[in-house]
Amino acid sequence: LCLSLFFGVLVTKFVCISMQVMKYLEPFLLSLEKLNEVSARLRKDMIRGLEKHAHHRAAVKMLPTFVRATPDGTEKGDFLALDLGGTNFRVLHVRVMEEEQKMLKMDSQICAIPQEIMLGTGEQLFDHIAACLSEFLDSQNLKGQTLPLGFTFSFPCEQKEIDKQSILIRWTKGFNCSGVEGEDVVKLLKEAIHRRGDYDISSVAMVNDTVGTMMSCGYRDQTCEIGMIIGTGTNACYMEEMKNVKRVEGEDGRMCINTEWGGFGDDGSLEDILTEFDKVVDRTSINPGVHTFEKMISGMYLGEIVRLVLMKLTEKKLLFKGEASEALHTPGTFETKFISMIEEPDSGLENAKKILTELGLRWDLVDARVVRLVCETISSRSARLCAAALATIANRILANRGLPHLKTTVGVDGTVYKKHPK
Ligand code: BGC
Ligand code: MG
Repeated sequence: LCLSLFFGVLVTKFVCISMQVMKYLEPFLLSLEKLNEVSARLRKDMIRGLEKHAHHRAAVKMLPTFVRATPDGTEKGDFLALDLGGTNFRVLHVRVMEEEQKMLKMDSQICAIPQEIMLGTGEQLFDHIAACLSEFLDSQNLKGQTLPLGFTFSFPCEQKEIDKQSILIRWTKGFNCSGVEGEDVVKLLKEAIHRRGDYDISSVAMVNDTVGTMMSCGYRDQTCEIGMIIGTGTNACYMEEMKNVKRVEGEDGRMCINTEWGGFGDDGSLEDILTEFDKVVDRTSINPGVHTFEKMISGMYLGEIVRLVLMKLTEKKLLFKGEASEALHTPGTFETKFISMIEEPDSGLENAKKILTELGLRWDLVDARVVRLVCETISSRSARLCAAALATIANRILANRGLPHLKTTVGVDGTVYKKHPK
């Protein structure tokens, strides 16, 4: 009896507090009607981005990738690959063999990119990349060979061809190296390799991570025509009809377009759904004013949004008896991976308690539940916005092809997508 009374009181307290908490979470709840509006705005922005002249001012850049087809599974070869731009920097040796079996052999190594380098000079960054590649080639006994290199560079680039110039439009996420924006990234990489002089590569093909994801998924599944990333950043690409890609000559066939949907809203078009917390996240980020959509969705920002909401609720005495800790006051301390841990169906509440203790907070059971509610609200908004944007792309493909119905595969990658329990 005592126990059930205890839980009864607890549940009543939780219901009572969460009603007050909802007042602050309300702005994060997006109705289906609102999501449809968001989708309609993205649809217009995608069309603008594809235009010949308006694209300079377009928030959604719709970058031609010069990838004109998805794989058919007969591809073969021996390649090096670099993957830069998310949580890890990876170097790989990839062998694609034997048509029928679609065999892929891969050796890879992860290299850390220290914060000083992420915020240092471009030369330092590319020297570091070239050094990691050198070390990897040594370990694989590959220094004597001159292999072609595929470079997955997860930032917006204006390309002239897949293996030619690739101009970085802007850094995003945690990177901000000087002297690279407006420059040809492929050239910077080749120069860094030549400066070392201990190995060489034959050619460099550069793709965005969304394109890499679509292509590797498409290698096994020919209906894959969309690639999406929900990781440190967020973005998607898809196969567009050439006749709609006004900036590239030619009317026939298709081309993969890197939407750079992270920039959606940079012209103010999402003002009505931005919360006070989103505005703080933007202001205190290393790239204020840009990548509005990304800042509501991706791993670089979700934890920080949660932290700001928890601070607000503490101020309003709805959490931790009104007492915050030094850690809670410090930007970046509530990591996005905590959200995944706290939303874990079985161990979630236990994880919440551990995390709150580590953050120096004095919590009770109701606090732990409120924190989980906040996490669920922030990650649901992220998921809903992604879904709305993905639906916009799928509907566009459907309309392009004049089909009544479309069955397609979306290749998806990214830490948030892979780690979040739902
Ligand atoms: C970049 C995109 C990238 C995405 C996911 C964004 O910040 O602008 O180019 O695809 O992150 O990594
Ligand atoms: Mg990646």
